[in-house]
Amino acid sequence: MAGISKILDNNKKWVSSRNAEDPEFFQRLANGQQPKYLFIGCSDSRVPASGITGTGPGEMFVHRNIANLVVHSDMNLLSVLQYAVEVLGVQDIMVCGHYGCGGVAAAAANKQYGLIDNWLVNIRDVIRLHETEYLRISDDTERMRRLVELNVIEQVRNLAKTNIIQNAMRSDKPPRLHGLVYDIADGVLKDLNVDGGGVIKDMEHIYATEAAHKDDEASSYEGPQGDPADLPGEPAAEPAKAKKTAKAS
Ligand SMILES: [Zn+2]
Repeated sequence: MAGISKILDNNKKWVSSRNAEDPEFFQRLANGQQPKYLFIGCSDSRVPASGITGTGPGEMFVHRNIANLVVHSDMNLLSVLQYAVEVLGVQDIMVCGHYGCGGVAAAAANKQYGLIDNWLVNIRDVIRLHETEYLRISDDTERMRRLVELNVIEQVRNLAKTNIIQNAMRSDKPPRLHGLVYDIADGVLKDLNVDGGGVIKDMEHIYATEAAHKDDEASSYEGPQGDPADLPGEPAAEPAKAKKTAKAS
């Protein structure tokens, strides 16, 4: 048996074994999900999110891309993050890298691979930020392993830079951020203790933002100045407000 037939056959066996174990299993999942975790990992086939964390269906929301990057223009990642935090209410968010990551290795090599080069620039930025430490490591394997860790740390920082996480941190149940590295060679998951290491606190003076208060906005809005007969959607001239905004930026 090859190709998709194998996949479909595996699925039939899985359904049978699940039903045999717990006849209510699928019905329960069909009623909704309340995962406690968000996993942001690498697309590498050797790093299956559920398998390495011992979680089953319904327990973990998952986003994966090449080299587990948190990129602020990535609508996919941002949508997953907002939904996980604000709708599902996940409590633990983990960025999980892995030693032997092909994406990280490719970023460290000065060679072109095509479209992906633009994605890998994000890891080259990590090298630039940590260049002194990176160049000090003479052993090639050790240098790559450290780059995998530094990449995870920077992606956790990237999470903390988003207004999604900053707003969630001020809520009653602030989520916890974690940086993990998985070792393909022995299956062990290591906690880099990123949140406790002060790396997020260190950058707050630059990246911390406050949401605009609705009350303030309402009080500064002076109402439409034009003729009430103007078409809806035609913004009335409001030079005072426009100037204020321009100054603020
Ligand atoms: Zn990888």
